[in-house]
Amino acid sequence: MNPRILLIEDEPGLVLTLTDRLLAECYTVDSRTDGESGLAAALEAAHDLILLDLMLPRKSGLDICRALRRQDIATPILMLTARGQLVDKVVGLQLGADDYLTKPFEFPELMARIQALLRRAGRNGAPATPATFGFGGATVDFRAGQVTRGGQSVPLSAREFQLLRYLIERRGTLITREELLREVWGYDALPTTRTVDVHVTWLRQKVEDDPRHPRFILTLRGLGYKFSA
Ligand code: CA
Repeated sequence: MNPRILLIEDEPGLVLTLTDRLLAECYTVDSRTDGESGLAAALEAAHDLILLDLMLPRKSGLDICRALRRQDIATPILMLTARGQLVDKVVGLQLGADDYLTKPFEFPELMARIQALLRRAGRNGAPATPATFGFGGATVDFRAGQVTRGGQSVPLSAREFQLLRYLIERRGTLITREELLREVWGYDALPTTRTVDVHVTWLRQKVEDDPRHPRFILTLRGLGYKFSA
């Protein structure tokens, strides 16, 4: 399978040139020319790498980057910035971009960066969890950040998705509410253990056949939760 690249760039000339040259290098290329449709494309399907222009109509590259990382989409992002956008580069890296390249650039330079990111993703990106995980009638696509049940997409909030992923990664073991608060919510929020229970209830309503008698997301009374393996 050819690596699949999503190109989000609004300069028609650059889109044309890059698409041609990437196709010639045996990549599959999807392109979008504004931020909104670019983000939608990134959320819709899994890509191996995103080439993301910084200045885009409708939604900036930084906003896209932030939105993707919030949804736990870990696809490598190579940002394309114009000369002098140094501050934005720094912010971009903070927001989860993996690398950046200043325009105008030479194509071999771009190829080297793309190959390095793909290599890195292949080597270090080997996740503790498989790309997808199925239980009951549900399938979780970790890369795309999506859950489907019976062929239908299940709308989960970013937090619900993180919670589900955490439970699945540690399936078969007891997980306390405090651990979930620490690992899923983090220190920046101040939720209570009741928050965890509420989110678990919501999650069950979305992924369990009978949320009142869950088969997968089990309560261990007085202890916490366990995802039944
Ligand atoms: Ca632009």
